[in-house]
Amino acid sequence: MGCDWWASDFKRTFPTCPICGSDLGYDVATKFATPHFKCRSCMTVWKLIVEGLGWKTQRRYLLVEPDKDLRASSLVKKGDRWHEGYKEEFWKSLRILGFKKRIELAEAKKSMARPLAYLGIVLGILGIIILAVNIWYFGFYFEKYNTLAAACSSFPAIIIGGIALKLASEKERTLCYIPILLGIIGLFGTVTGYIGLYS
Ligand SMILES: [Zn+2]
Repeated sequence: MGCDWWASDFKRTFPTCPICGSDLGYDVATKFATPHFKCRSCMTVWKLIVEGLGWKTQRRYLLVEPDKDLRASSLVKKGDRWHEGYKEEFWKSLRILGFKKRIELAEAKKSMARPLAYLGIVLGILGIIILAVNIWYFGFYFEKYNTLAAACSSFPAIIIGGIALKLASEKERTLCYIPILLGIIGLFGTVTGYIGLYS
């Protein structure tokens, strides 16, 4: 079994690195016929340990070199009970990964909520401007296309604000209510105008 085989075998076992969560894959080197796996992202190195004989073998993975940020340094050369290294399940349940993933998700959400909220605010303001211009020129008799344009601006403002709100962190929530509020004002004006138009 060559290095390529071991690399894909390790990747099948750990699709994302147990330490950094990256899916860049692993480089394999064999030392004394024992495969060593190195994460291409964080540089953590594991050594494969096979225990038992025949079909009753069990695999363990011993961390021999920590990642470049030294987050996993406490796991170097450690194992459970009388064994060297840990089983697959241990590495998969590592809390470091959960922690990292949560941070990444929070950051992704944060970066999406703000631009969406701003887009919603622009649309919401646009809807109100269209209504204001209409009132300026036509009074409370709402011109058909103005009414339609205002609705096409105010309604998406509410939807986008709602989506932003779902993605927002605690701090960003207030910002997301603004497009919703503007949209409701615009839509209320539009509906009032629409009723006025046909009554
Ligand atoms: Zn890694």
